[in-house]
Amino acid sequence: MLADMPQGFTAYQLTLHIKSPIQIGVGKLGDCSFAAGFYIYTGSAKRNIESRLARHLKKYKKLRWHIDYLTVHTLVEVVQVTRSHQSECTLNQAVDGIVLVNGFGSSDCHNRCSSHLRYLGDFLPVASCLDLETHISKWHWFSRMGCEKI
Ligand SMILES: [Zn+2]
Repeated sequence: MLADMPQGFTAYQLTLHIKSPIQIGVGKLGDCSFAAGFYIYTGSAKRNIESRLARHLKKYKKLRWHIDYLTVHTLVEVVQVTRSHQSECTLNQAVDGIVLVNGFGSSDCHNRCSSHLRYLGDFLPVASCLDLETHISKWHWFSRMGCEKI
């Protein structure tokens, strides 16, 4: 299935679901509060984007990026993964959500994104829920990485 997928993606978005409000330390950002609900995180990987995405789905890893502090949390689930050829900042700025934590994931951003994590609220847009293709690729990841559940 992977062989059939278009190649050359350099940016990606993770849809995260936080089951109940959490307050956690996020590296140099310090203590941050996250409301329950859905979030979209936008990132990029110039090379090996598939291994980056696989890493994001792992619950146990060395904490390196801001997003790692969320993805390892027991109340946080990555519910959708999408890939893109657009720049991460273009993608991020097109997300119709609000910034809850300034500076999250945007330390290296040169395009004045205040954060690469946007909060969508309690519900996913219907279009996202029906994006079967991304769900299929997500399940492909589970089988490939041997993860039964993230
Ligand atoms: Zn940016």
